[in-house]
Amino acid sequence: MELWFTEKHTENVHFSIKVDRQLYSGQSEFQRIDIFESPEFGRFLTLDGFMMLTEKDEFVYHEMIAHVPMAVHPHAKHVLVIGGGDGGAVRELTRYPGVERIDLVEIDREVVKACKTYLPQTACRLDDPRVHIYYEDGLRYVRDIRSEYDLILVDSTDPFGPGEGLFTKEFYGNCYKALREDGILVNQQESPFYRNDAVAMQRAHQRIVQSFPISRVYQAHIPTYSSGHWLFGFASKKYRPVEDLNAEEWNRLGLATRYYNTKLHIGAFSLPTYVNGLLEKV
Ligand code: SAM
Repeated sequence: MELWFTEKHTENVHFSIKVDRQLYSGQSEFQRIDIFESPEFGRFLTLDGFMMLTEKDEFVYHEMIAHVPMAVHPHAKHVLVIGGGDGGAVRELTRYPGVERIDLVEIDREVVKACKTYLPQTACRLDDPRVHIYYEDGLRYVRDIRSEYDLILVDSTDPFGPGEGLFTKEFYGNCYKALREDGILVNQQESPFYRNDAVAMQRAHQRIVQSFPISRVYQAHIPTYSSGHWLFGFASKKYRPVEDLNAEEWNRLGLATRYYNTKLHIGAFSLPTYVNGLLEKV
């Protein structure tokens, strides 16, 4: 009998991946965690039935969430990752010798445990001595922090369930306070393509615009996410994402990447006309 994982992208669109076998299934205090093995995408993680990452295309998401702000901020030393218990964003950050400390705030200890066992491709740097893991709600964690981080990456689930608070005005306002005077916030910001995703994306953008003086959106192609067209938010107190890109310096680091490069960085901020239209409406 053939086994398929199916995610509902809309009432009328389903996305399916053929599965060889299930490696892990568990119910944590916060969500259902499943890890599968598939012929096309390798191993993949789902939470409450929603795709989080696959071994085949996670490089796109993790390179784009980490390298875009790292190539703009000239000396990011202290970084906060909220969510991201799979370790993919942390893995990319640990490649920078200048990063001194990475605080990972993940609400669900069981996600980290399962990923360390079954997804070493992303979890491989979680034991780096610069990484400090806190099992806490990110919304609560940032409430008490003042001017501490150069960079905050919000690598969250979608805006419902445990991730809901990470899309609120209160959260973005507290991220602003938790950042140093030249800090940058990057968040995963859903897809512009289907209506429900687009509404969530617009809402997040509107709240970030209200909280930060500089707020832009960039895009990437992620085949296993809804519609395959994904957006990230770039919000900042000082640096502009294209004009302040340190391309020469980033290229001098010699980091081997598969998706990100500094020319793509510039292009990623040029959005399709309909997406600009959605953003202008907020
Ligand atoms: N890249 C994925 C995506 O966009 O689908 C998301 C990665 S997934 C590992 C996101 C993580 O955020 C999950 O492990 C989840 O437990 C965590 N998370 C959700 N809500 C959270 C919260 N309020 N505070 C901290 N972590 C949270």
